[in-house]
Amino acid sequence: MNDTMSLKINKVSQSRINDIDWDNLPFGREFSDHMLEMNYADGQWQDPEIKPFASIQMHPATSAIHYGQSIFEGMKASRADDGSVQLFRPDMNAKRFAESCERMCMPVVPEDVFVDLVKKIVEIDNEWVPRKEGYSLYIRPFLFATDEFIGIKPSDTYKFLIFTCPVGVYYTNPVNVKIEEFYTRASAGGVGQAKTAGNYAASLYPAKKGKEEGFDQLIWTDGIEHKYIEESGTMNVVFEIDGKLITPSEDSDTILKGITKRSVVQVANHFGIPMEERKITVEEVVTALKEGRVTDAFGAGTAATIAPIAKIGFRGELYEIPMKPRTASNKIKGFLHDLKSGKTEDVFNWLVKI
Ligand SMILES: *Cc1c(COP(=O)(O)O)cnc(C)c1O
Repeated sequence: MNDTMSLKINKVSQSRINDIDWDNLPFGREFSDHMLEMNYADGQWQDPEIKPFASIQMHPATSAIHYGQSIFEGMKASRADDGSVQLFRPDMNAKRFAESCERMCMPVVPEDVFVDLVKKIVEIDNEWVPRKEGYSLYIRPFLFATDEFIGIKPSDTYKFLIFTCPVGVYYTNPVNVKIEEFYTRASAGGVGQAKTAGNYAASLYPAKKGKEEGFDQLIWTDGIEHKYIEESGTMNVVFEIDGKLITPSEDSDTILKGITKRSVVQVANHFGIPMEERKITVEEVVTALKEGRVTDAFGAGTAATIAPIAKIGFRGELYEIPMKPRTASNKIKGFLHDLKSGKTEDVFNWLVKI
């Protein structure tokens, strides 16, 4: 936080921690004892407060509900083998959050303040960071417009909240995905690079259609020609073709700049695993699938880290990708896991201890 701010802390009188079934944690349904709140009014951020996790009251005209000035981040705290707790590259989330703020005409939460407040909320609910292998504390910072007004304009007031959820392993099974050639997630000049609520609302219908055809997720293609691969569901996507890892480059503003994907690229470079960031056409992937040259495909994102893709559907055909050996992605996944559990040295300086 900056010098002029002070953090108020109002702790729960009775923790709910013993009510949780720690061996069975569905994603995003259990919430830790506290949340952080910081309001924006009169042209500035007000003093933040940590308070008991609780419902919030909203005026029916709250502008975020009507017009969607609402953004979020997703990040994790994990517990190392020695019991210590750490964040993974929180500066990257702070930066992306600031970029989302700008794009949605919302006041920027200064990056250092963002990181500091995330640290504070994790510190206070430290005991909620699971001890079980592969489990973690999911952190959800978000910001939304709170003007009680239904005219369309950037709101003058906002609420920034952070709550946390102890979570288990996100995807347990490899997923089947369909290359989507009609619906789009984002368009050039749109808001695809912002982690803003409306992007997810817009993806639900195409995803539901995909589900009806038996697919867990969609592989999004560009909105103009449906010729280029963009992302997989709410994750970035990586293929292994002819022994090389390939992921779509971020030079279009329709692909969300994932921190997991960025880390995968850096770890691959570190290990000398061939890795390319460039445009990938649907045709290239489908041809390689037909010829059996796709030896791995996975989604990369905070929730699942690396989510293996088992089958890819395209124009009524289903192509299977062998689950083994997937050497490169397993090596990268293993490295990230060992890093967070403290088994391997933090050569990139990615971990921030609480
Ligand atoms: C959050 C998100 C990702 C993954 O980003 P990470 O920083 O790796 O969690 C990818 N695509 C979309 C659309 C997302 O919302």
